[in-house]
Amino acid sequence: MIVVMKSNSSEADIEHVLTYLEKHGLTGHPSQGVERTVIGVLGAVGPTGAPGSIGGINPTLGETLEGLPAVEQVIRVSKPYKLASREFHPEATIVDIEVPCVSGGIVGIGGSEVVMMAGPCTVETEKQLMTTAEAVRKEGAVILRGGAFKPSTSPYGFRGLGEDGLKLLAKARAEFGMAIITEVMTPADVPMVCEYADILQIGTRNMQNYMLLDEVGRTRKPAVLKRGMSATIEEWLLAAEYILSQGNRNVILCERGIRTFEKTTRNTMDISAIPLIKQLSHLPIISDPSQGTGRRDLVTPMTLASIAAGTDALLIEVHPNPDEALKDGAQSLTIEQFRDLMPRAHAVTQAIGRTLITE
Ligand code: PEP
Ligand code: MN
Repeated sequence: MIVVMKSNSSEADIEHVLTYLEKHGLTGHPSQGVERTVIGVLGAVGPTGAPGSIGGINPTLGETLEGLPAVEQVIRVSKPYKLASREFHPEATIVDIEVPCVSGGIVGIGGSEVVMMAGPCTVETEKQLMTTAEAVRKEGAVILRGGAFKPSTSPYGFRGLGEDGLKLLAKARAEFGMAIITEVMTPADVPMVCEYADILQIGTRNMQNYMLLDEVGRTRKPAVLKRGMSATIEEWLLAAEYILSQGNRNVILCERGIRTFEKTTRNTMDISAIPLIKQLSHLPIISDPSQGTGRRDLVTPMTLASIAAGTDALLIEVHPNPDEALKDGAQSLTIEQFRDLMPRAHAVTQAIGRTLITE
């Protein structure tokens, strides 16, 4: 349920509705729009302290709320996700990231600009990370990716450098002024990863790790939530709802390919998810064509297609020597290939009336 306040409603009016909801065992999540404030209403409180489903709401409550003088309208949200829905928040959410290397020092994800995030799949060595960071920055990437904690399908695969990897990422940030995105895999690691990262990445294998979602939700760090490899759009938005309902509004969704019967590619890149998410949700949506295809020859075309479809940012794997990469070499672009991709990405971005932010 969403309570739409009248455009002239005051702080006290909003407070009044919030108190009223509280008295009925509900939680109100206000969101201030340009025109008016809307309040998302969530129901029963779950055992972990998180607001739960809408299930427990008294059916006549909507009518009572609608009778309050400062309330314009009460909308019943048909979708199971509430705070993530467009109905709750008609304007697009822009997640601001501090990026020292751009003028103004802030990059907004979800606005008119398209943002390039690039770097190695995995932080391997200082030299590998610094070489990649320098090269991708030179071509216009403003956010550096690199995993220090790696989810590995096989227990014998490389699991990452851990905190040492985070320290290398911090070093690259200091040197090149790029923001850092890196994966966090367990609730216990959230505080440590937050110290080093500008954006937390929640991997496809953890999209439904609800304890992790809760913990990330308790921070205010921007978080990229990858789509589970077998997740429906609705399950994905419900996972986002976990983070949002804990109070962290800085959620960014990431399409990274889904599992289908097709074997030629590692995953099937669901480009349609990009405009679909824009319809269903106010949250920014970004695209990872590297995991999305698993093949470096397909990364550039899927990057261009994602931009055309409306992606707010790209997450691309680049390695100075992909054949020697400890992980995901087959899908990592060489530095030369990334250099070739950027002008094309600029051209498509311009063609749809957006700008690829590089400085
Ligand atoms: C990655 O970005 O390297 C990664 C492991 O992503 P995903 O969780 O989408 O597989
Ligand atoms: Mn990878």
